[in-house]
Amino acid sequence: MSTVKATAKAQILIVEDEPEIAELIEFHAERAGMRARTIHSGRLALEVMRREKPDLIVLDLMLPDVDGLEICRRLKQSEDTRSIPIVMVTAKGEEADIVAGIELGAEDYVTKPFSPRVLMARLRNVLRRHGPVEDVPERADRLVLLGGKLVVDLDRHEVLVDGRKAELTLTEFGILHYLASRPGFVRTRDQIIAAVHGKSTVLSSRTVDVHVTALRRKLESLADCIETVRGVGYRFADTADDGQE
Ligand code: CA
Repeated sequence: MSTVKATAKAQILIVEDEPEIAELIEFHAERAGMRARTIHSGRLALEVMRREKPDLIVLDLMLPDVDGLEICRRLKQSEDTRSIPIVMVTAKGEEADIVAGIELGAEDYVTKPFSPRVLMARLRNVLRRHGPVEDVPERADRLVLLGGKLVVDLDRHEVLVDGRKAELTLTEFGILHYLASRPGFVRTRDQIIAAVHGKSTVLSSRTVDVHVTALRRKLESLADCIETVRGVGYRFADTADDGQE
């Protein structure tokens, strides 16, 4: 993973109708060396995003005029704004919206009330992973993760845990490879099913959980790298690469 400081002077557009929350995000973003600007209306935000093409959008899903999910959908549908990463801000208990947003292409989210430190860590991670295209390998044939403790080899269909080969089923391998290809990104169960489907058995939301449980057991001491994101799905947490403080 690249260590390029993509966050230097990154331009953040905050779409948030509550002034206090907007100010809080702006304050911390600027302190973290980003340039931040707030738009209080969803309708206006769409216009500004198309014109200014910020590096990242912090999007409140509960806006008075346009639904945040609708903004997300339009941005991800349009060729020239599709690549702008979106971090959603949602209220507690809106798991269905989070799932919908991630399936529309949003990169991450925080739930109100959020800790500014957590939000900034998320923004930095997203910016870092959306750095120059050449940083992202075309095909992740061999993933070396968790400081080398975990190796996922697509060609050899092999997983090494602390240097020892783990015997995974096709489905477990598929889930691990899919999650580990984008560390830090939450994937919904439906996304996991779509990615792994066809490679083995037919999956349902509930069987995804069963496979994840089995996968964790086989990962032994590294089990925690498959993080449950309650009400949403799963994410691969590469703590060696997280940049968390
Ligand atoms: Ca709001």
